[in-house]
Amino acid sequence: MDLALLQRTLADAGQPAFRARQVWAWAARGADGYAAMTDLPAGLRDDLAATVPFSTLALADEAHAKDGTVKSLFHTADGRPVEAVLMRYRDGRRSLCLSSQSGCPLTCTFCATGAMKFGRNLTASEILDQALHFRRMLRTTAGRPTSSERDAGSPAGDSPDHVVFMGMGEPMMNLDSVLEACRRLPGVGITHRRTAISTVGWIPGIDRLAQTDMPIRLALSLHAADPALRSEIMPVNERYPLADVLAACTRFHAAKRRLVFVEYVMLAGVNDRYEQAVALAEILDPKVFKVNLIPYNPTGSFDGSGPEAIDTFRAVLEERGLRATVRLTRGRDIAAACGQLAAASA
Ligand code: SF4
Repeated sequence: MDLALLQRTLADAGQPAFRARQVWAWAARGADGYAAMTDLPAGLRDDLAATVPFSTLALADEAHAKDGTVKSLFHTADGRPVEAVLMRYRDGRRSLCLSSQSGCPLTCTFCATGAMKFGRNLTASEILDQALHFRRMLRTTAGRPTSSERDAGSPAGDSPDHVVFMGMGEPMMNLDSVLEACRRLPGVGITHRRTAISTVGWIPGIDRLAQTDMPIRLALSLHAADPALRSEIMPVNERYPLADVLAACTRFHAAKRRLVFVEYVMLAGVNDRYEQAVALAEILDPKVFKVNLIPYNPTGSFDGSGPEAIDTFRAVLEERGLRATVRLTRGRDIAAACGQLAAASA
């Protein structure tokens, strides 16, 4: 919902200021339209339905995986594709992966979104509407886990509880809108402590995030300790060299006292060798960083490392004192990587 348009419309209609808060409270709890907002006058509900679209996004496609993962493709009002994903975990977490841009200008070579044409930054409302879509889905019977999902351990919960900004786009390039959306996420059930912003190393954004009053987690997409390899697969490394990025992450840690998660996607024969694990351990301070190894969902140009290579890599890091985990893969049977659903529908 375009919250600025909502406020303007209510003000023009002479409505008191609390009306906007009422409407937001309903939307955040998963109401599926103005008609459900029973403490608003009926005439006002009709007027809002006619003038303020309930969502800034239109659902264009959706893929459901056997493990309960749902990937949704939306279109903005001006026709830009946006993807978001709901992941359900055995421990009960219901985590959302949200997008901050339509497409991405940064062209990382392993990323399907990077291969798409960059559209534009999303507004805060377009970011929030991704979360509200899944809030509604989890609230309705249709969104509850199927029997096979329950067998896999998913609870019939009604609210997402974690958010990661790891969908389409570089969130630090659109940080005003991302933070504006983050301010409202607790109303949807997602606290700041359970919100993480992932960056490829956009230093001005890292420094700004360190200054916010919200205890949001920082994740760094690192993917290669060697500067030449990193520049090859992530051109942003030319603009913001890794050593400077790590220094910014250390400043973030000093300001927030929260570990920085390093995301490291495992690409077979590219960044998964023994000496590359040693090099990674050498540049990361275990007091500041924790590593998350990510099995790769192939997008065409690269193959993912096998489980043995990933385990060996993790062991090398842990032997050197770094905490390292391997991310659980979700939604393997649906279009796997960010950007793939949009590409398939184009
Ligand atoms: S990995 Fe992130 S920053 Fe790089 S191209 Fe993909 S969306 Fe953009």
